[in-house]
Amino acid sequence: MWGVLAIERAGDLGPAARRSVRELTLHLALAVENARLLLKERRFAQELEDKVDQATRRLREIDRAKSEFLSVVSHELRTPLTALQGFSELLLERVVPPDRARRYLGHVRTETQRLGRIVTDLLDLSRIEAGRPLELRPERVDLGELIERNVDLFASQHPRHCIEGQVADGLGAVSADRDAVDRMLKNLMSNAVKYSPRGGRVRVAAAVAGDRPDTVELTVEDDGVGIPAEDLPRIFDRYVRIAHPETKAASGLGLGLHVVRSLAEAQGGAVEVESLPGKGSRFRLLLPAAETEI
Ligand code: ADP
Repeated sequence: MWGVLAIERAGDLGPAARRSVRELTLHLALAVENARLLLKERRFAQELEDKVDQATRRLREIDRAKSEFLSVVSHELRTPLTALQGFSELLLERVVPPDRARRYLGHVRTETQRLGRIVTDLLDLSRIEAGRPLELRPERVDLGELIERNVDLFASQHPRHCIEGQVADGLGAVSADRDAVDRMLKNLMSNAVKYSPRGGRVRVAAAVAGDRPDTVELTVEDDGVGIPAEDLPRIFDRYVRIAHPETKAASGLGLGLHVVRSLAEAQGGAVEVESLPGKGSRFRLLLPAAETEI
């Protein structure tokens, strides 16, 4: 930084006066430099304080989200457990007519599956969070068989919905982990059912992706409540749940789609969504086609 000190005086400056002026100039320069340093120090301290404030706020948010998440998880685990306990006690302690016993066992199966899905999602999440690779073993997977099995399973559990599956003629296999594809499909199908609470159609289909011949698309479509356009970019983030008056009672951890996306991407695939509020949603899972067998 440069500074100029101008002194006006008629006539010449004597040597003593010159010395004093030089001295004065040095002092002034030092004072200016000190003031500049002080300002810099204050700005730095302020920036530091802002950063610490921000970090503290973020930590508090994470802490709150974690406590909320734990209470939601406990609730989500307790609901199926209570049902399992109730139905098994009924079956053990009372004489129940066979048709009713069968119905109870149906509930026991549904709740066990629900519990299984929650635990698997949590395990997948903990791997994703820890940056550990998801355990995936790619093999040739026939989507037709997988779709048929899940359509039958969901149709038997959700009689209010009309659940249909369709596979394009001559569709080849995909190269993916069978269990992971099953988990992704179950997650998408259970959402399709959950977010169309008044019943309706759920369509599952598989075909070669129109825009990518080396990719197979597995679509799950419903005519449920749909998702507002402004929320679409966030629904694959973890813990994100979109409030909707019709699906207030729907339980969930906001993890399903996050896990679906992570599993899809870990296998060289992707997941996309189109949705219109009040009309329904269409999720498109893209998976690499397996090489044709010779
Ligand atoms: P969860 O179902 O446990 O809330 P997900 O990660 O599976 O968590 O879904 C995140 C959010 O995306 C849901 O809370 C819901 O608002 C929205 N969503 C997902 N699938 C559908 C669907 N088929 N129709 C309407 N909304 C959906």
